[in-house]
Amino acid sequence: MDFNVEAIRKDFPILKREVNGKPLIYLDNAATSQTPQQVIDVIVDYYSNYNANIHRGVHALSQEATDAYENARRKIQKHFNAQHPYEIIFTSGTTHSINVVANGFASLLKEGDEVIVSALEHHSNIVPWQMLCEKTGASLKVIPMSLEGELVLSEYDALLNETTKLVFVNHISNALGTINPIKTIIEKAHSVGAAVLVDGAQACPHLKPNVQELDVDFYVCSAHKICGPTGIGMLYGKQEWLKKLPPYQGGGEMISEVTFEKTTYADLPHKFEAGTPNVCGGIAFGAAIDYMNTIGFDAIANYENELLEYATSELLKIEGIKIYGTSKNKTSVISFNIGNIHPYDLGTLLDKMGVAVRTGQHCAQPIMDFYQIPGTVRASFMFYNTKEEIDLFIVALKKSIMMLS
Ligand SMILES: *Cc1c(COP(=O)(O)O)cnc(C)c1O
Repeated sequence: MDFNVEAIRKDFPILKREVNGKPLIYLDNAATSQTPQQVIDVIVDYYSNYNANIHRGVHALSQEATDAYENARRKIQKHFNAQHPYEIIFTSGTTHSINVVANGFASLLKEGDEVIVSALEHHSNIVPWQMLCEKTGASLKVIPMSLEGELVLSEYDALLNETTKLVFVNHISNALGTINPIKTIIEKAHSVGAAVLVDGAQACPHLKPNVQELDVDFYVCSAHKICGPTGIGMLYGKQEWLKKLPPYQGGGEMISEVTFEKTTYADLPHKFEAGTPNVCGGIAFGAAIDYMNTIGFDAIANYENELLEYATSELLKIEGIKIYGTSKNKTSVISFNIGNIHPYDLGTLLDKMGVAVRTGQHCAQPIMDFYQIPGTVRASFMFYNTKEEIDLFIVALKKSIMMLS
């Protein structure tokens, strides 16, 4: 069966709009994805019909909102194949999730301990760990990358030892699209007793992770990259870890008993969900997962691979192009530069022609430093993009290059 992209595009109202008098060609999906009507409807329905605070009210609206929120948690649990619903913590997104874990480990690490990061990380999977190291005296080691944009696993082996406590790595690089061999990375970390956090922000739009099969300790993502709203995401943690880590924020909802002498914390997941959560966001996150599953992740992967291959071969016909990130194992993200043209200039001209791409460092300055470049132009594709859009993008790109050279 052919992938019916035209039917899918009808789900996304924003794809009908124009930018600078041209039809929008949205190729900045690695920064945020667009939202289908099915998810927008859920948001409108929530605020129109059952907006309420949750877990505390005895009234009908509060019950309905609580049920919908907890139902979303179970959907997410099933999607990621977590063992228990309370292993899914709602957060404001990937960055928040990583900070919850980094903050928790501050009480578990001491001087002389080591933590390992990869050269391919987003700033949000670097900075919280540097802050953790400063607090605890632990030291940060880096798995280096190759010119193809792959992690050098033999170097990883050399870094691992019994002082390694934690490894954090992304599943897919947002800057280059490389799919990292996280199963191997996790196995090796576990062989020395280290825990692993996988930043799945860039993977979840393209594949369906199975946290039990991966045996990963922590897995994090943001709803806005998988057709959900901003301001909501999740932290999956194995229950033994989540029980061990102290809470991140204190407040309402996360306590069991409060006196001025001592407070005891609530059970999971509430221990990590202080204050009134993003109720509507959580429910819409569940709806986004439903939507993606209706399309199906096998179909998504097949189609996006076609787009990736097509766009790569068309781009390679352009004189002076250099594509960064050439792993055979990559997803639909293409980072490139053309000769000496500054990526920002290309991005600005492309925008004038309705094409949205990302330019700059993509929150991954160490990768840009590795290639000794100020940044790249990044085109990233989702299942609602088309070959026709890629053709128009290439035409716009050629026009921009002419204007700039
Ligand atoms: C987008 C992204 C993040 C940050 O996600 P936020 O939603 O901004 O918290 C982290 N890591 C990767 C790989 C990403 O793609």
